[in-house]
Formats: sequence, structure tokens, C-alpha cells
Amino acid sequence: MDKKKTELLIAGQGAAGYSAALYSARYQVQTVLAGAEFGGETAIGGMIENYPGIEADGFDLMMNMKNQVMNYDVELFEENLEEISKTSTGFLVKTNSAEIETKAVILCVGRERRKLNLSNEESLVGKGVSYCSTCDAPLYKDKIAIVVGGGNAAVEGAILLSKYASNVHLIYRGSSLFRPEKILLTQLEKCKNLELHLESEVREIKEGNNGVEGVVVNKKGEDLDIYSDGLFIEIGADPRLEIPNQLGLDIDNETNEVAVNKLMETNVKGIFAAGDLTNASGPLKQTVTAAGQGAIAALSAYTFLGSK
Ligand SMILES: Cc1cc2nc3c(=O)[nH]c(=O)nc-3n(C[C@H](O)[C@H](O)[C@H](O)COP(=O)(O)OP(=O)(O)OC[C@H]3O[C@@H](n4cnc5c(N)ncnc54)[C@H](O)[C@@H]3O)c2cc1C
Repeated sequence: MDKKKTELLIAGQGAAGYSAALYSARYQVQTVLAGAEFGGETAIGGMIENYPGIEADGFDLMMNMKNQVMNYDVELFEENLEEISKTSTGFLVKTNSAEIETKAVILCVGRERRKLNLSNEESLVGKGVSYCSTCDAPLYKDKIAIVVGGGNAAVEGAILLSKYASNVHLIYRGSSLFRPEKILLTQLEKCKNLELHLESEVREIKEGNNGVEGVVVNKKGEDLDIYSDGLFIEIGADPRLEIPNQLGLDIDNETNEVAVNKLMETNVKGIFAAGDLTNASGPLKQTVTAAGQGAIAALSAYTFLGSK
């Protein structure tokens, strides 16, 4: 096993992680950025049109962030954290091939989107399959879109999409929409171009040369073909809590996210967290909020290291 030592270890190569690394490098904190996968969710999100100052493909935006970080003295270590424990001097992080001693950690490991687990779902992400209607709705102007889910996010997504798309289908397996807030249901009823399909489940995603071309839905026991240009899967996301749980971090009771204060401090001294993993940005989980929180976490880690 390789052995390394650093002052700060940042976990996750998403917007929060790159932003934290950029700031910590500029504070001249010795930094290792660890994570097996480049770019996080933004890199697979298709066009990003709401990051101020830049309209770009998410992959390109993240490549720019990475290149900007790599201009500084940051060690990129392309393995995920597998284990973490507290030591007398800080923390010991284990990856597949290394043990890294660090004085502080910023966790930016994001969330795992819940999936329908259909065979071509993953390969169609960015080609019609999306897990974020807030992000991608404007791309569906005058098109047909399907939203799957029965909670607030799905209903909000369907309402938003109805402002852009010519037709929206909301597909939910339950027999009534009882979870969303009443005000959302009132707004939903006013969407003239929206059709609600209850007791319905997507069985298959149809695909053509350009991506999604509709779905096969089982509605009350019968199969139904619905044409659509996009499929929005809004059935929730789960924060990646394996590493936070190993450290005994406080978890927000309501959201199941890592609880942080406005300085991105967790309840364990020396452990900071940022981005979609945390309860910092409420329901607005976006690249811009993750990047902002990464920057704050880096300042807090710098202050913490200076105080030691
Ligand atoms: C399809 C889609 C489209 C989107 N479109 C937009 C948009 O248009 N505009 C917008 O602002 N936002 C958009 N978003 C949301 C945005 O991508 C997220 O809010 C943002 O990526 C959150 O950044 P993050 O760094 O917190 O987490 P993530 O981007 O999820 O990054 C987390 C990283 O941590 C890594 N990781 C996981 N476990 C470990 C571990 N144990 N050790 C090390 N690393 C680990 C992951 O591999 C990943 O690279 C979209 C999201 C999706 C899914």
C-alpha cells in the first residue's frame, strides 16, 4: 500500500470538489483531490445554461474547472475513499491502493440518483433521459416530455416543463398524488397541456438515432406507447452517506443529508462538507450552489488548519 501525507484531502471530482481545491490551492494549503470519476453530475448533465457567465456542455464546463485546478499545486488522486477513521493527528483515509494521512477533509461526494433501472436508461442520460427537470426543462421548448414520479420534485418538474414543452405526461405508479404540497397540485391542475397517468409504470424506454423516442407504460395492467423527446426521472436521490457514517457525522433528520452550518463545518472538527451531499442549499441542488459551498468549505479548512 502506498502511504501519503497531506494537510487537506478533498473527496469528489464534482463542482464542489474542484471549487474547494481551487480555493485551498490558492490559500497554499497542501491539497490532495481524491475521486475515481471526473466531473460529477454536471459532466453528464448535458447543456448547462444556468451557470452565471458560461453556457456550455457540462462536460466542457467541468473540464475547464479541472484544468483550472491543475494549474495549481494540487495532487489529483484518481481513487475513491473507501474508509476513513480519526487518528490522534487528524484522519486516515484508505483508497484501493493507498493510505493517506490528512489533517482535514472536505467531503464533496454528492448524491446517488434513484433510477428506474431500465436496460438503456444509463446510456441515454444526456440524450433524453434526465434526472433534473429544473436544469433541463428549457431544452424541451415545443417538444413532448414525460416526467416520472409522484413527489414534490416530479410535480414541480411537470409544472415547469409544461411552460416549455408542447405536451407533458406525468406518470406515477400510485392511485393518487398525495405527497406533493397542495399549492403545487393546484398549479398542476391549471396546466392545460399536461396529462396525468396514475397507476402507471414505465416498462421500456424507446430509443432512436438521437436518443429517447418515447416509453412503453403499463397503465392499470395494459401496455401503452407514449411518444416523447425526453424522460425526466424524478423519483429522488440519496446522499452518499457511507463515508459520513464512518465518521459519525450528524445527518439532517428531514432531508437525510449531511448537516453543516453556514461555514460548511460538520459536527466533527476538521471535517467539512459541501455540495449536494449536504443540507446547505435546501432544494436547489445546482452546480453554482455546489461550487459556492466548496469555496466556503476551503476557507473554513484553511482557517481550521491555521488554528492548529
Ligand atoms: C442530468 C442532470 C442535469 C443537471 N443539469 C444541471 C444544470 O443544468 N445546471 C445546474 O446548475 N445543475 C445541474 N444539475 C445538478 C448539478 O449537476 C449538481 O447539483 C452538482 O453536480 C453537484 O455537485 P457536487 O460536487 O456536490 O456533486 P457531484 O457532481 O455529484 O460530484 C460528486 C463526485 O463525488 C464522487 N464520489 C462519490 N463517492 C466518492 C468517494 N467515496 N470518494 C471520492 N469521490 C466520490 C462522484 O463520483 C462524483 O464525481 C444536473 C444534474 C443532473 C443529474
